[in-house]
Amino acid sequence: MTFHAKFSGYADPALHAMGLYIGGKWQSGSGITVLDPSTGNLLAEVADAAIEDAQRAVDAADAAAAGWRATPPRQRSEILRRWYQLMTQHAEELATLIALENGKALADARGEVAYAAEFFRWYAEEATRIPGEFRHTPSGSHNILVDHEPIGIAVLITPWNFPAAMATRKIGPALAAGCTVILKPASETPLTAYAMARLGEEAGVPPGVVNVLTTSNPGGITNAMLADPRVRKLSFTGSTGVGRVLLAEAAKSVVSCSMELGGNAPFIVFDDADLEAALDGAMIAKMRNAGEACTAANRFYVQAGIHDAFVAGLTARMKSLKIGPGYDPETQCGPMITQNAVRKIDRLVSEALAAGARATTGGKPLTENGYFYPPTVLENVPVNASIAREEIFGPVAPVYKFESDDEAIRLANNTEYGLAAYIYSRDLKRAMKVGKRIETGMLGINRGLMSDPAAPFGGVKHSGLGREGGVTGILEFMEPKYYAVDY
Ligand code: NAP
Repeated sequence: MTFHAKFSGYADPALHAMGLYIGGKWQSGSGITVLDPSTGNLLAEVADAAIEDAQRAVDAADAAAAGWRATPPRQRSEILRRWYQLMTQHAEELATLIALENGKALADARGEVAYAAEFFRWYAEEATRIPGEFRHTPSGSHNILVDHEPIGIAVLITPWNFPAAMATRKIGPALAAGCTVILKPASETPLTAYAMARLGEEAGVPPGVVNVLTTSNPGGITNAMLADPRVRKLSFTGSTGVGRVLLAEAAKSVVSCSMELGGNAPFIVFDDADLEAALDGAMIAKMRNAGEACTAANRFYVQAGIHDAFVAGLTARMKSLKIGPGYDPETQCGPMITQNAVRKIDRLVSEALAAGARATTGGKPLTENGYFYPPTVLENVPVNASIAREEIFGPVAPVYKFESDDEAIRLANNTEYGLAAYIYSRDLKRAMKVGKRIETGMLGINRGLMSDPAAPFGGVKHSGLGREGGVTGILEFMEPKYYAVDY
């Protein structure tokens, strides 16, 4: 791994990890360049794993598996707890790394580190509460004993938008369950993953229990690992398109899959909502990570009576945001991850404008260096525009006017996705009644933020399979074993 001088000046040298992490050993290399999205300049170059490296990672995870499975839950718990503490101690350096390689504003990066570390604390606690079951058969013929065993070696694939939290949300429950893992972070943001692996080493994670690989050949490497009969779990967070490809690949070896995929969250504001609260919630739901979140509000459905006041309030708030590099402490809206991301946002906004939408602020990419798109509000957007169907993944808030509850529900459900949704109303009964009819895995009622390590995170429809976090998250990494017992 090579560090660019600018990067070395920002990051704590203790977290300058040395490339592929396999079987407790660091293997330096090059081939994958990491860019600063606020300038397009080189930050660092990391190793590019080949298929043989992935096979060595599976060997290492296999060699460590029996020992880790036999490690008492209390001991596994204490290692996770130490990892949580080390992440908390190094929170500022980790947040700087995230702001550098991902571009998000430091405040968002700090929030991510705290959220990410909480998964280790939560699963340190859950490691000691692995459930079992005892039942009598209705016929009285025998007894039913259900144990939960670690599922086996898990391959974990994560996206660039939460480089710390998407990794800990998988590693925490996997290690708590007794599984060994191979993490493949996104190529845009590998530095955070390697820095966290360094802290894991310091926390006492035994060699081979956590392995980390970066690669320019994610398909080839993943297919090779899924074809190895020792790999029994794939936990993926990323786009629905790649998720579909991986589900098909995993089917060949009948590997258990957890899929956290794309979203297209509706944000519904009823006439009876508290306007200021709805605007506060809208800013969080839209602008956390500058809109680069799977739970980001993608479609604002606002009832006719409150519509104009909402658009005016949202426009004023979006206009006031300071744009800049994530690592500048003044920044509130950082760059997008790549130039391609800016192009996609530009296409969606241009198509909406051509179809009759009006931008009350923003509406065009910024022309300075780096991958910037300004906070944008669109009104009068046609409900069938491509911006209503595709994930925007940027700081653009399209607002649509509706009249009745039934119309809001119909519009909200008019998508292949079903990850997150938001409702603002002072009438809780109405919000709950509408919420019951929204096809979603998660629903924020009078809240713009729902992520919490103690809650089950995940979607319905094409947004995924399974849940991460909460008390059930650990079961994604376990197999129930039924003992029919007669005595
Ligand atoms: P992506 O393109 O699907 O990539 C995600 C990860 O998959 C990266 O590590 C990527 O590696 C890897 N990958 C790409 N092609 C692969 C293949 N053929 N085989 C194996 N791995 C492959 O998604 P992204 O653009 O990074 O992330 C944004 C997406 O993630 C959005 O759709 C967002 O909604 C979703 N997301 C969902 C959740 C959730 O919890 N539901 C959370 C966060 C993000 P490379 O980087 O090397 O290409």
